[in-house]
Amino acid sequence: MNTVRSRPVVLCLSGHDPSGGAGLQADIEAIMAQGCHAAPTVTALTVQNSIDVSDFRVLDADWVLAQADAVIKDMTVAGVKLGMLGSVSMVDTVVQILQRLQGLPIVCDPVLRAGGGGALGKDEVGYAMRERLLPVATIATPNLPEARILAELPNGTPDECAAKLLPFCQHLLITGGHGEESRVHNRLYSRDGSTATFTCDRLPGSYHGSGCTLASALAGRLALGEDTHTAVENALAYTWRTLRDADRPGAGQYFPRRL
Ligand code: PLP
Repeated sequence: MNTVRSRPVVLCLSGHDPSGGAGLQADIEAIMAQGCHAAPTVTALTVQNSIDVSDFRVLDADWVLAQADAVIKDMTVAGVKLGMLGSVSMVDTVVQILQRLQGLPIVCDPVLRAGGGGALGKDEVGYAMRERLLPVATIATPNLPEARILAELPNGTPDECAAKLLPFCQHLLITGGHGEESRVHNRLYSRDGSTATFTCDRLPGSYHGSGCTLASALAGRLALGEDTHTAVENALAYTWRTLRDADRPGAGQYFPRRL
């Protein structure tokens, strides 16, 4: 019998975006592009397109637990990616799932808004993620607007937000894609006091699913065994290329070209 070597499995706990630009489809594509296998557990359904979100519904906890259980019983999970959770009670459900997956790299993307600005969860969901998920995650990947919500500093600089959030997590990557400067500054902060800044040229246009792409690529890289700094560098470089090559299947935002 042949011994088949499998790609590392990344368990994704994220929402579904029917336009395919963000959410689980973004996770699957970005994880595949790193050479890993994505196992997508649906936490929420959204109604949205490339322009905006009009509604979302969070799944019942028992459905989410059952989906994750089916995967965990069957496969050796090598990493976890958390995306849209949508409610405080879904945060608790995810905490329950993570208790069975200790010692794995976990990337927490604290999704509260869609790329077009529509809400995908109240700020309380962000506070619950900060209190209960950041402490068990390897790294959180907020953009600056999300970091300001989590840190409860509406005009905070990245450094000020990091000072408030680092007590909760090991590593924090605050992305700068939502700013205005011609160079984007993505800042990695670590609990041991080290920091690193990764800069890249700002690309014109507005993108749907860039945060999901980055967080999933990072989960894939960590699942492959890369150290945090290398994984962040590679995931950022990959994400930048997907934005450079983005296409526009609808009338609104551009979609990263992940494969
Ligand atoms: N997760 C889901 C299900 C979404 O629908 C979205 C945005 O629409 C996001 C996450 C976050 O998107 P982005 O990567 O643009 O921040």
